[in-house]
Amino acid sequence: MDSSHYQLTDFLPTTKKECMLRGWDELDVILFSGDAYIDHPSFGVAVIGRSLEAAGYRVAIVPQPDWHGDYRDFKKLGRPRLFFGISPGCMDSMVNKYTANRRLRAVDEYSPDGRHDCRPEYPTIVYSRILKQLYPDVPVVLGGIEASMRRLTHYDYWQDRLRPSILCDSKADLILYGSGAKSILQLCQDIDAGRRIADIHDIPQTVYLTPIAQFANEIKADDIVLHAHETCLHDKRAEAENYRHIEEESNKIHAQRLLQQVGKQYVVVNPPYPTMTTDEVDALFDLPYTRLPHPKYKNKRLQAYDMIKFSINMHQGCFGGCAFCTISAHQGKFVACRSQRSIVEEARKVTQMPDFKGYISDLGGPSANMYGMRGRNLKACEHCKRPSCIHPEICPNLNVDHSQLLEIYRAVDALPGVKKSFIGSGVRYDLLLHKSKDETLNAAAKQYTRELIVNHVSGRLKIAPEHTQDEVLQLMRKPSFSQFYAFKEIFDQVNKEAGLKQQLIPYFISSHPGCREEDMAELAVITKKLNFQLEQVQDFTPTPMTISTEAWYTGYNPYTLEPVFSAKTPQEKLAQRQFFFWYKAEERKGIARELRRIHREDLIAALFPKGQSASFSKSHTAHYDDRPIGSTYTPPTHEAPIAKRHEGSQNTHQKATATQGSPKAKAKPKSFNPNFRRRRK
Ligand code: SF4
Repeated sequence: MDSSHYQLTDFLPTTKKECMLRGWDELDVILFSGDAYIDHPSFGVAVIGRSLEAAGYRVAIVPQPDWHGDYRDFKKLGRPRLFFGISPGCMDSMVNKYTANRRLRAVDEYSPDGRHDCRPEYPTIVYSRILKQLYPDVPVVLGGIEASMRRLTHYDYWQDRLRPSILCDSKADLILYGSGAKSILQLCQDIDAGRRIADIHDIPQTVYLTPIAQFANEIKADDIVLHAHETCLHDKRAEAENYRHIEEESNKIHAQRLLQQVGKQYVVVNPPYPTMTTDEVDALFDLPYTRLPHPKYKNKRLQAYDMIKFSINMHQGCFGGCAFCTISAHQGKFVACRSQRSIVEEARKVTQMPDFKGYISDLGGPSANMYGMRGRNLKACEHCKRPSCIHPEICPNLNVDHSQLLEIYRAVDALPGVKKSFIGSGVRYDLLLHKSKDETLNAAAKQYTRELIVNHVSGRLKIAPEHTQDEVLQLMRKPSFSQFYAFKEIFDQVNKEAGLKQQLIPYFISSHPGCREEDMAELAVITKKLNFQLEQVQDFTPTPMTISTEAWYTGYNPYTLEPVFSAKTPQEKLAQRQFFFWYKAEERKGIARELRRIHREDLIAALFPKGQSASFSKSHTAHYDDRPIGSTYTPPTHEAPIAKRHEGSQNTHQKATATQGSPKAKAKPKSFNPNFRRRRK
């Protein structure tokens, strides 16, 4: 369906006139969004708006309000009966706007025609302050990734300083962190029942501020009191220590409450809701989305929409625990899956879109192949604090059954109108390579691998080893590079047997904590031996509230408190980055100079053997990907379907994928969380 098949009233209202068309003269909740309004389940504000609508609340969305002048966009719908909500966007606004080098990104993918002037920096703070100025007595509630990942003291890379909970800067009343679909309904009911927002302290997955003097008697024995914000300002070790607790409590089934003092107040983080059931996730995805941008964007391009238009998200949450990724701190470690019925229904809707040509661009999620996986013995999971179920090794309790996924792929592919479905989300090949004691699981993984490569790759499969050096990979919580070799062998073999000529396209990151120039030099030598001229590479971006960011800022491993080196200056980062491009003639001199500086002349010979000129191929285009890593789930890039198998390109997923947990971890873990235990000499 295109927008001409829909009435304006099929979308949530964005103006007074649209409210009147629905016969609404008063709104219960008004949501202000930093992104354009795309009525699709991949966009948080649409999910929240539709959930409220389904529960009988009158809700409107004001996308990208003008924050200058007389604030007419903030006034045009008047005051809501219950509260204002702020959904700053699918990505942290600073991650969305700037590259790792703090340069302006080429486009804002979530704004019409990629415009940069549709939202301010930190819309959470800007919108909230305006609303508090205009309507001091109306509650303001924050949601989305920006508020979630800034819920406690965090390092802000763009300001290069620690900032307190975003509640302090924004003056808002409450944060609904993670998926806000449950907490926002509870909040509506509580305010509807006459409760004052200042007294609502019992909703799970919320964050509030409270005066210390009034809270003394409410502290419970199992609360975790973090180091105060003011302590962290001058004590990086304290900040690192805090993060360990934050991460552990984000990933536990029975989490404890977190308290942090800021001035004369406590920031209180209530534990999250239990992982959503399949019925609950289905209920969110089955809402009556038009799956289209609001008609106000007619003739405008929304790149974020183009990316997900023909893709389907099958689950939420990720148990990978990659150190640079925010997904588990936002969506949780436990995977919440949709039913096959709900997924196939959505696929059927996609096939009815007028410009659908038969190719589903992604059947995925935060990771492509975690669907349906969880611990066999849930009692063990209830006591588990591990940030990852698969690093450093796959937990023996994890059920790594790929058979359900295969059934779904086959059911979607059997739909009339579907020529092919691609898997654009990151594939965890460590899960595919894992040898389980149960032979039926091994057989299912083998079958999945084969079907993935033969039926669901559009010519190039993008995967994310992220580095070649196991010591760096250990800090990233990624598996040993030996797993990449193992997967590549299978990939090449299956292609050969099927008569296909598909390519593996690996992703790598430079300047991650723990990575030195020497590691990058080794990476260059290894990728040269593999005959890869790298296309998908990134410079590490310290996004708020990841373990990598905390290690980068504090210089400590938050779990062991051992020192961790990070490349920080632009010169250090460039020195690392240049190694990706060993095959470019213009980089050769700089690389050789750097290798001499670090006394690794031996690698000069390995990279540039005598008599061999730089093998730069004009037909090869290297792509330095300045898109941020792991800020949130970014749906896969939709690319034009291809006629011939090996001419196309696989869609992308921003969240890194991984291979098996390092089996070579030598040191005995000091804690159950075995990451960050290396000390560099
Ligand atoms: S016990 Fe294993 S499967 Fe369960 S949460 Fe912990 S690591 Fe994951």
